[in-house]
Amino acid sequence: MSADLDPVVYLNGEWGPLSEARIPVLDRGFIFGDGVYEVVPLYATPQGRAPFRLTQHLARLARSLGKIRIDNPFDDAGWRTLIAQAIDANRGEGDALVYIQVTRGVAKRRGHAFPAGITPTVFVMVNPLAFPTDASRAQGARAVTAEDKRWLHCDIKSVSLLGNVLMAQYAAENDALETIQLRDGLLTEGSSSNVWIVKGGKLFGAPRGPRILEGIRYALVEELAAEAGIDFEEREITEAELRDADEIMISSATKEVMPITVLDGEPVGDGRPGAVYAALYDAYQRAKARELADWALHAK
Ligand code: PMP
Repeated sequence: MSADLDPVVYLNGEWGPLSEARIPVLDRGFIFGDGVYEVVPLYATPQGRAPFRLTQHLARLARSLGKIRIDNPFDDAGWRTLIAQAIDANRGEGDALVYIQVTRGVAKRRGHAFPAGITPTVFVMVNPLAFPTDASRAQGARAVTAEDKRWLHCDIKSVSLLGNVLMAQYAAENDALETIQLRDGLLTEGSSSNVWIVKGGKLFGAPRGPRILEGIRYALVEELAAEAGIDFEEREITEAELRDADEIMISSATKEVMPITVLDGEPVGDGRPGAVYAALYDAYQRAKARELADWALHAK
């Protein structure tokens, strides 16, 4: 199997090929989706693959673990070492991502409440990643909308992703990149992204809170907007405002910021990626260049 399909992965203290990694069926992640995860983008640099916004991703992992009361198996330095080792074990040419999953661990019998004296399962894997191409950015992507039927703790980066999986499949079946969810007539977020709208040159994002996962790119987009001199407001966005937006974009570790130019088959604004998107994407690339340069300076 190619190294891309069979990366060297970390599972509970051991390193080995993905194809040989095994967890017991009574792992709480398998039986209950009782775990949390992170996805950190890794950009190819001359010094190797560099993580972007790792500090913030590790802080969110710690928060997610805290919210479901799993003891964090590592401190910040421990996670950094582990991730550096995973990157080292999977040297390659292109961009990539690191996937981290922690579950409550393997129970002795199936029962809903937390078992006593259980050790969390820790899994780390590096996968190659293709960011959206310049051609697809120039065109913009299609999105569809759907009622957000997920539970009301969307702020936890939980591995119980059934609602998100169904929404991503709905996008795929409708030839769209993303499903944009609405709850009670208000915009929440995508199946695996945060959503932004632009009206009259101003940028709006749905409020942080239990109804959305606060992307690491949420605060980043705020920073980029400030840098680009774009007014930003965090507030409820109605379905009518979404449909009437001049621009819509999504953000995530793997899509960076990506323009949505078709929503439910209708053009967004003039149907082309807008000026606010272009300014934010430029600022994103500058923030990335600064952080990766800093990373290279400190890389051994
Ligand atoms: N919302 C959801 C539901 C997600 O799965 C993701 C992607 N992990 C995001 C938002 C964006 O978060 P980030 O910017 O950290 O990738």
